[in-house]
Amino acid sequence: MPEILEVETARALLDARSLDREITKVHAPDAWFLKRGLTPPAVRSALKGQSFTAARRRGKLILVDVSSGAVLGLHLGMSGRVLVDDEAAGDPLLYASNRADPAWHRFGVTFRDGGTMFLRDPRRLGAVELDPDEERLGPDAFDLTLAQLRAIIAKSRAPVKAVIMDQSRIAGLGNLLCDEILWRAGIDPARPADELADAEVSRLHRAIRDSLRILGRRGGSHTGDLTSARGPGLHCPKDGAPLLRRTVGGRTTYSCPVHQV
Ligand SMILES: [Zn+2]
Repeated sequence: MPEILEVETARALLDARSLDREITKVHAPDAWFLKRGLTPPAVRSALKGQSFTAARRRGKLILVDVSSGAVLGLHLGMSGRVLVDDEAAGDPLLYASNRADPAWHRFGVTFRDGGTMFLRDPRRLGAVELDPDEERLGPDAFDLTLAQLRAIIAKSRAPVKAVIMDQSRIAGLGNLLCDEILWRAGIDPARPADELADAEVSRLHRAIRDSLRILGRRGGSHTGDLTSARGPGLHCPKDGAPLLRRTVGGRTTYSCPVHQV
């Protein structure tokens, strides 16, 4: 499933390959894939004759600026991938959606030069919207400052994992990354957030930065040390303790009962 690191790779591909190319055709074969009132005719008239001028990202939402001033919002959902000129970002072997089936092209454009951009999504859980409300999302996880994290943590009694996974508080962290971050920080995912000491919040902040940097370099959110050890009967890569499997914040959560306190 695409998390912030995979979405960032898709954004970088759009930024490198799709800008300043005039859009001559808009493919919107699946009206259900268009969200927040957007219709195929509306998205066609918003994009035809225009070009993309920048590809930005906030959390897991890709924001493509259009020459008209509009903003195209792309959600990759559980299995979405971005293709430019039939080429996808990242390692194709890691994704079930690698197979080139045109029926999975939920949305796309053709450029005047004959190239294309498509959003391919076998499970159809992604979405396209126009002028998305960026402010409904918290600060992007890559840009999160320690002061911002302190304010977010101090405001909630919910389990710390639920708080850092809440996209309106911090944009971009999904289930796998949150488990990896809390494992690196040595913090129990079920601890009420507002009970964390200052030193623990600092550790959490460092773990967010380290996880994004290290896993980004390794190739994605599935490459974490804890993630590789996920599953029943497995052990903490740090101290060998049997891992604990629970539901925290509504999601399956792995943690170490020994060093995560
Ligand atoms: Zn451990």
